[in-house]
Amino acid sequence: MAKRDFYEVLGVERGASEAELKKAYRRLAMKYHPDRNPDDKASEEKFKEANEAYEVLSDAAKRSAYDQYGHAGVDPQMGGGGGGGPGGANFSDIFGDVFSDFFGGGGRGGQRGGAQRGSDLRYTLELDLEEAVRGTTVTIRVPTLVNCKPCDGTGAKKGTTPVTCTTCGGIGQVRMQQGFFSVQQTCPRCHGSGKMITDPCGSCHGQGRVEEHKTLSVKVPAGVDTGDRIRLTGEGEAGTMGGPSGDLYVVVNVREHAIFQRDGKHLYCEVPISFADAALGGELEVPTLDGRVKLKIPEGTQTGKMFRLRGKGVAPVRGGGAGDLMCKVAVETPVNLDRRQRELLDEFRKTLEGDSSHSPKANGWFEGVKRFFGDL
Ligand SMILES: [Zn+2]
Ligand SMILES: [Zn+2]
Repeated sequence: MAKRDFYEVLGVERGASEAELKKAYRRLAMKYHPDRNPDDKASEEKFKEANEAYEVLSDAAKRSAYDQYGHAGVDPQMGGGGGGGPGGANFSDIFGDVFSDFFGGGGRGGQRGGAQRGSDLRYTLELDLEEAVRGTTVTIRVPTLVNCKPCDGTGAKKGTTPVTCTTCGGIGQVRMQQGFFSVQQTCPRCHGSGKMITDPCGSCHGQGRVEEHKTLSVKVPAGVDTGDRIRLTGEGEAGTMGGPSGDLYVVVNVREHAIFQRDGKHLYCEVPISFADAALGGELEVPTLDGRVKLKIPEGTQTGKMFRLRGKGVAPVRGGGAGDLMCKVAVETPVNLDRRQRELLDEFRKTLEGDSSHSPKANGWFEGVKRFFGDL
């Protein structure tokens, strides 16, 4: 399959600045992120495509190679780098960089060989529209790694201490020869900690952490929307070697609603009205999130007409007034007519014959058709 132009993928000009690239990439990454589009192959492809484009264009050297030679200039297959397949190598780095603002920064790592901060965890919280609009408190159960109690997180049996790793000499990294390349790798023996446990703790088998499920109560503020994150500081994975715990990010996903569609602070719904109510005017009951309200329909209402109910939308979580509820009326054609009803309608139809003043839309439409043929 031919690859699309990377600038086109990100939707930016060829001369786009780093900030513009990042902004464009972030927008796409948020939109097509697998967490937000579960089991959606097309989105996954878009997500990968954007990642690949950003990986190249955000790197000055790769970008200039791409500008000169196109895809051939940066294709891992052609470059001989021997990476882990296209787009694989730097994926987490890019992701970490772009998302670091959301994740509070400094999330990953900590200094090598010593205490490391635990990973941040992500939990997707499914909410009904009503819950998202009003706010709620939910109890969630999350798997997590916690510090092992018997060894206090060191991984070494009580009374013993870890010793310096003999493979890497305590550095946590080793040099390996791979063909022509000498690459630095995390020490396979101590996994980067620089320490070796000779007498491992029986409870955690030297890991220092054990898996546990914990139950947390999450307060969801009123007005949240899909993609909003609630950060629970220190509720992520435990750190290693006494490092601080990561954070838990509860990511909101609002389920589809049977009646309302939400767009930011506004809600939309479609209200079917009868052909007679549309013509004569009437009063409808329309649903809102706080119950039913009456809506006056003027006579001569056309299908598709939008009525705005001020303040009946959603009060945004970041403050500001509530949005509106837009009710779009759909005039319904009556079905299953009996004989009498047919007669009445037939009689009614006859009264319209030859008088176009009752049909504003058809009038305009026929005028348009006439002009169109006249111009030919
Ligand atoms: Zn080592
Ligand atoms: Zn232990």
